[in-house]
Amino acid sequence: MTQPPDEWESLRQEICECHQCPLAKSRSQAVPGVGPNDAQLMFIGEAPGRQEDIKGEPFVGAAGQLLTKLLEQVGIKRQSVFISNAVKCRPPENRQPTRSERAACRPFLDRQLQYIQPRVIVLVGRVPTETLLETSVRMGEMHGRVYHRNGKTFFVMYHPAAGLYNQTLVPTLEEDMQKLKKLLHSDPAPAEEREQGQLPLSEFFSEEKK
Ligand code: SF4
Repeated sequence: MTQPPDEWESLRQEICECHQCPLAKSRSQAVPGVGPNDAQLMFIGEAPGRQEDIKGEPFVGAAGQLLTKLLEQVGIKRQSVFISNAVKCRPPENRQPTRSERAACRPFLDRQLQYIQPRVIVLVGRVPTETLLETSVRMGEMHGRVYHRNGKTFFVMYHPAAGLYNQTLVPTLEEDMQKLKKLLHSDPAPAEEREQGQLPLSEFFSEEKK
């Protein structure tokens, strides 16, 4: 007798078979995410691009290679983190996912977060930051900072694709990755004590962010 799929596998299947928004029509396949489902660190990008749509894995194109390099620079193995996107299917021509597409896909992201319970959630770029922090986003001010919402700890950084378009942002990405590493090695107070707070990294680290 075959066993029923567990909760994690059934969530993955639901994503792969989902037709709840128009992106289902233009995708090759949905991209649920990759990595251990008990990871301490979870990265959330915007949406799959062309390579991701073909391979069914997030962050496998040029931006993904830069992300892997940035992780390696601070000694974090890519295989140890869970990587996904705010929207699981590729928008045509890599346009930004609309608000209604993000809203349609949000329950999948919430269920992944609920299942994985990562210690730190890294919001990679504007779209996931807007989606999870539910605020208007100024990346120039928000990158490299820690936020707490609903008992969860978030860290905001630029999307690696921004570093591909603008090489001057690469040192900023590297600097923020160092801050993320320090955050992981710190012992922040329980999230509920910092509920709804917006904390500068100086709360965790000796260096001040200007
Ligand atoms: S983007 Fe999300 S909501 Fe839309 S079809 Fe894909 S899995 Fe479903």
